[in-house]
Amino acid sequence: VSRCDGVEQGPPIEVFALNRKCTEDSCPNKVNLGVGAYRDEAGKPWVLPVVRKVEKQMAADDTLLHEYLPVLGLEQFSNASVSMLLGQDNPAISEGRAFGVQTLSGTGALRVGAEFLNKHLGYTTFYYSNPTWENHHLVFVNSGFTTPCQYRYWDDKTRSINIEGLLEDLRNAPENAVIILHACAHNPTGIDPTQEQWQKIADIMEERKLFPFFDSAYQGFASGDLDKDAWAVRYFVKRGFELVCAQSYAKNFGLYNERVGNLALVLSNSKPVAAVKSQVTWIVRGMYSNPPAHGARVVATVLNSPQLFDEWKDHIMAMSSRIFEMREALRAELIKLNTPGNWDHIVKQIGMFSYTGLTPRQVEHLIQEHHIYLLRSGRINICGLNTSNVVYVAKAINDAITK
Ligand code: PMP
Repeated sequence: VSRCDGVEQGPPIEVFALNRKCTEDSCPNKVNLGVGAYRDEAGKPWVLPVVRKVEKQMAADDTLLHEYLPVLGLEQFSNASVSMLLGQDNPAISEGRAFGVQTLSGTGALRVGAEFLNKHLGYTTFYYSNPTWENHHLVFVNSGFTTPCQYRYWDDKTRSINIEGLLEDLRNAPENAVIILHACAHNPTGIDPTQEQWQKIADIMEERKLFPFFDSAYQGFASGDLDKDAWAVRYFVKRGFELVCAQSYAKNFGLYNERVGNLALVLSNSKPVAAVKSQVTWIVRGMYSNPPAHGARVVATVLNSPQLFDEWKDHIMAMSSRIFEMREALRAELIKLNTPGNWDHIVKQIGMFSYTGLTPRQVEHLIQEHHIYLLRSGRINICGLNTSNVVYVAKAINDAITK
C-alpha cells in the first residue's frame, strides 16, 4: 500500500508523447514534424557555431566558477536582453524604467511575470489567443490567475487572422485583464497581425486599460531580422504602455535545454523599479532561488561582443532562410501533385510552424500510414523538412487528402 495509490494518471503532453512515438518508430522514412526544434539540412540538431566557440573559451577559462548567481540572474545578460528587445537606444532604457530578470527560459519568464502581476497588482483575468501555445493556460493558472479567457485569432476559412473577432473580444475584456500577445511568429498559426492590426489592438487595449504580456520566443528566428521581429513590442512601448515580455533563447540560440530566458519589464517611470525588483526577488527566491549560469553566460558573451553578435545574426539568418526555402518547396510539391486546396498559406506563415489545415483524420493517416509525425491540430514544424524528405511528405499529404 502506498500513500500515492489514489493518485490518478495525468494525461500525456501531446508534443512529448508524439516525439517519443517517433523516436521509437523504426521506419527509415519517418519524419518528425512535431516538436518545435530546429533541424539542419541533414535533419540533425544544430549547435550554433558561435555558441560552440564561446563554450570552448569558457571551458578553457579557469577563472569561471560555479558560485551562485544573484536571485535575479546575470546582469550583463538581462541588460543585453532588454536592449535586444527594445533596441539599445530606446528611451525606456535610458530613463531607467526598463529592466530585465533572468529566468528559466521563456516558460520561467511567463511564470515569474504572471505571479508578479497576480500577487502584487491583483490581476486575476488573462486572455490568450485561440489557438495558442498549449502551456499558456497552465502557467497562468498555476501563477494564481483564476479567470482564463480566450480571444478569437484564427479564421479557418480564410486561414488568416480573425481580426474583427479578436478586436471584439478585447473590447469586451474587463479592465486590467492581462492579454498574452505573441511578439512574432505566432505559435501555432505562423500568422502575425499586420502593423495596422497591431495599431488597432493597441487602441483598444489603451481604451479598455488592458495589460499587455508579450511572449517573445522567436526574436530573429522568424524573419531573420531582430528589429523586425521586435516591432510590435517596441510599438507598444512607444505608445506609452507599461508591459512585460517573456523572452526565450531556446530557438534563436538553439539553447533549448539550457533554459535561458529573460523577463523584461517596462514601467512608465523609474520610481517603482527598486520595489518591483525586490518583490520579483522574493518570487524567484521561493520558487527556485536563483537561475543557472551557463547558458546566460553564453548569450551575454555573444550579445555584448559586436563581432560575435554579427556571427550570431548570420546564424539566425541561415536558420530562417532554410525554413523559408522549405516552405516554398513544400508548397511547390503540393501544387505539382495537384493536391486539392490552396497552399499559399504555407509561404505566408512565418516562424518554424505551419498551421496546415489538415484535419485530425488526415493527421492520423499521416502518422499511421506514412510515419510522418505532426500535432492533431495540423501544426507542422517546417524545420523537420529538408530536400531529401520534402517530396515524400508532399506525396503523403496528397494521399491523406485525396484518399
Ligand atoms: N512561448 C511560446 C509561444 C513558445 O512557442 C515557446 C516554446 N515552445 C515558449 C514560450 C517557451 O519555451 P521555453 O520555455 O523553452 O523557452
